[in-house]
Amino acid sequence: MLMNLSEAHEQCLAQLLDRMAAEPVKGFLSSADGSQLFRAVLALAPAGPCAEIGSYCGKSTVFLASACRLRQSLLMAVDHHRGSEEHQLGEAYHDAELRNASGSGIDTLPHFRRTLAQWDLEPWVMPLVCPSAQAARGLTMNFALVFIDGGHSPAMVAEDCDLWVQRLLPGGILAVHDVFERPEEGGQGPYLAVQALLAQGRCRWLAQYDSLVFLQALPLAS
Ligand code: SAH
Ligand code: MG
Repeated sequence: MLMNLSEAHEQCLAQLLDRMAAEPVKGFLSSADGSQLFRAVLALAPAGPCAEIGSYCGKSTVFLASACRLRQSLLMAVDHHRGSEEHQLGEAYHDAELRNASGSGIDTLPHFRRTLAQWDLEPWVMPLVCPSAQAARGLTMNFALVFIDGGHSPAMVAEDCDLWVQRLLPGGILAVHDVFERPEEGGQGPYLAVQALLAQGRCRWLAQYDSLVFLQALPLAS
C-alpha cells in the first residue's frame, strides 16, 4: 500500500501532520496510521467514494477526507456518535468532555461537526448517524475503500467486516484498525475478523502497518 506520492501531495500530508500536532483532534489514531490511510485513499479514491466506520470526534476523518478532497471524491462517515462500550461513563476510555446534555452518556456528533468545519472538510464528507449494520444494510452504493474502526468487540467487528466487505467495489480495499495478533497487545476482535475474511477466501492480504491491516476484496467464487 505504501505508495509514492507526488511532491505536492507529500507537502499536503506534511502540512496536515503539522496542523494535527499543533491543534490535535481528540481520537485514537496515530500519525503513522493516519498517514497510511491518507496514502491509501489517494490511491483508491479515483475509483469511487470511501467510507469510514467509527468517526468519534473526526481524527481519522481528517486524514481520509483530506485525501478525498485532493481527488474530488467523497467520504461517507458512519457513526451513531453514542460511543463504544469503552467510552461510556465509568469505562476506561470515558472522556467527560464528551458527555451528552443529560449526562447519561456521550455524544460525539457536535465535536465531529466542529472538526469538519474547522478543517474545511464539510464538502467532502457525508455523515451517516446510525448504527453501522443499519447503514451497511440500507445502502446500495459501493466503495473503493472502507476503514473499519467502530465497535471493537469480536461480535461487532465480525459483523462490520462481514457486511462492509460486501459494499466494496471490485478490487476495493478494507482497512481494519487495531489488529493485534497477541492478546497482551490488545483486544482480539479485529484480528479474529481479519483471519475469518482470509479463511473464507473473501479477501487477500495486502499489508500491515502497526495495527492497521489492508485487505483486498476477492470476487465471490461461483
Ligand atoms: N476513528 C476514530 C476512533 C473511533 S472510536 C478516531 O480516529 O479517533 C469508535 C467509534 O465507533 C465511536 O465513535 C463509536 O460511537 C462508534 N461505534 C461503535 N459501535 C458502533 C456501531 N455499531 N455503529 C456505529 N458506530 C459505532
Ligand atoms: Mg481504532
